[in-house]
Amino acid sequence: MSVLKKLLVVDDSQLIHNMYRLVMNRYQGCKISDAMNGLEALDILSKERDFDIILLDINMPVMNGIQFMEKLHKENLYRNIPIIVISTEGREEDTLRALKLGAAGYVVKPFKPHMLHELIEKIMARKKGPAASPVTAGA
Ligand SMILES: [Mg+2]
Repeated sequence: MSVLKKLLVVDDSQLIHNMYRLVMNRYQGCKISDAMNGLEALDILSKERDFDIILLDINMPVMNGIQFMEKLHKENLYRNIPIIVISTEGREEDTLRALKLGAAGYVVKPFKPHMLHELIEKIMARKKGPAASPVTAGA
C-alpha cells in the first residue's frame, strides 16, 4: 500500500510518534514528520506543504490541536491538506469543534490501527476523485 507518501504527525508524546511509525508501516516509503505541538507543526508547514494528511492530537502544550485548527481556519492556511483529529473518549465537544473548523475526519483514542488505515484510505481516495464530495466524519 503506498497511497500515503508524506504524513505530518502532531502529538506531544514521543511514544505516540513511535506508535504511529509502526501503524504507518502499512504505507511503504511513507515519509513521516513529527511535530510535538501546533506551533512546531506550523513551523514545519511553513517550509514543506506537500503533506498528504496531518494527524492531529488535541491535548498538547504550547499550541493545542484546537488552537492549531483555529489558526489555520482564520488565516485560510493549507486548506488542501486533510486533517485527521485524534480525539479522546469523553471529549466530543473537541471533536465537534475540530470538524466545524474543517477536519476531514477523526478517530477516538484508543483505536485499532485498521480504523485509522480505513479513514486515511477513504480520505486519499476522495482527494483523487473527480469532484470534491462533502466531508463526512468518522471511519
Ligand atoms: Mg497529547
